[in-house]
Amino acid sequence: MLAVLIALITTAFLSLMPNVELKALGVTAIISFASAFILIYISLQFLIFREINNIYKNIDRIKKNSFKVPVKLKRSANPLRRVNEDILAYADKKQREIEELKELEIFRREFIADVSHELKTPLFAAQGFVLTLLDGAMDDEAVRYKFLRKAAKSLDGLNILVQDLLTLSQIESGHISMKKETFDIRAVTEEVFDQLEENAFEKEIELSIEPTEYEPVFVKGDAMRIAQVMTNLIGNAVKYSPESSVINVKFLIKQDMIQTTVVDNGTGIPPEHIKRIFERFYRVDKSRSKKQGGTGLGLAIVKHIIEKHGSEILVKSKVGSGTSFKFLLPKG
Ligand code: ADP
Repeated sequence: MLAVLIALITTAFLSLMPNVELKALGVTAIISFASAFILIYISLQFLIFREINNIYKNIDRIKKNSFKVPVKLKRSANPLRRVNEDILAYADKKQREIEELKELEIFRREFIADVSHELKTPLFAAQGFVLTLLDGAMDDEAVRYKFLRKAAKSLDGLNILVQDLLTLSQIESGHISMKKETFDIRAVTEEVFDQLEENAFEKEIELSIEPTEYEPVFVKGDAMRIAQVMTNLIGNAVKYSPESSVINVKFLIKQDMIQTTVVDNGTGIPPEHIKRIFERFYRVDKSRSKKQGGTGLGLAIVKHIIEKHGSEILVKSKVGSGTSFKFLLPKG
């Protein structure tokens, strides 16, 4: 229609000229119609149809989930090309969100399976002992105490596991924030040593602090949570060290920070496991950890607490030589 209009206007103008032949008018009408038609068709094809086709192609790729957005989108002057780029960028963003949600869903499912499994073990053990007692073992005094003690131990384990799970979920959900109080981390460490003295004594493990002369080491942080970090780290060192070994806690001033290191000369952690020990329920030697009463959550809690203090927990280990965990806190 546009081409017809252009041809009509051109011919009308030409007819205004004096002495113009009808034949010439006809030829002008045909030529102007044809050239206008070709020009309009080509520009539409290049400017609009091609871009719309691209948009459809991209929508198709999005549907098939096989699209790839150029690393750096150049903002084109062509509005249709911009629409195309925006569709791709939006689809890419949504695709990433979907992938994140899928990962979270897998993580959630695995976590629920792990928690159920971990809860089941001590619960079934305690149930077994109680049922055996009810089935008649209660009449034998020696067996009665032994089984009751075992049931109580399993329930203690269950209690520790539930406490650890609660701590972890509280920290992760962000319900608790870390206090910023000044406290003596050396005094906290000595309290932890007192709590673990019995376990260390049984294995003739020596607990020591460096520097040896008593001088308070003031840091800024949440004293209660850092006490938990120290309990988990020193507790692990005791658990995974052989008899007659030494566990050393070192404090070092690093500019305006205090570096705390817990060093043991225990079993060590094989390099392929190092990356994963901070994951929940990850254990290098499952049966050994369980035998020692480990929940598999200790280091996950440590990592969360230290990260909530804006710091990082670092580990170095060599199989057969020992392990060291260190973290920095601001000087108090
Ligand atoms: P657990 O309750 O099993 O000790 P953790 O989260 O505290 O769980 O530790 C995860 C795993 O890391 C442990 O099962 C153990 O295999 C390994 N681990 C942690 N600390 C040490 C250490 N000091 N020496 C050797 N292995 C360790």
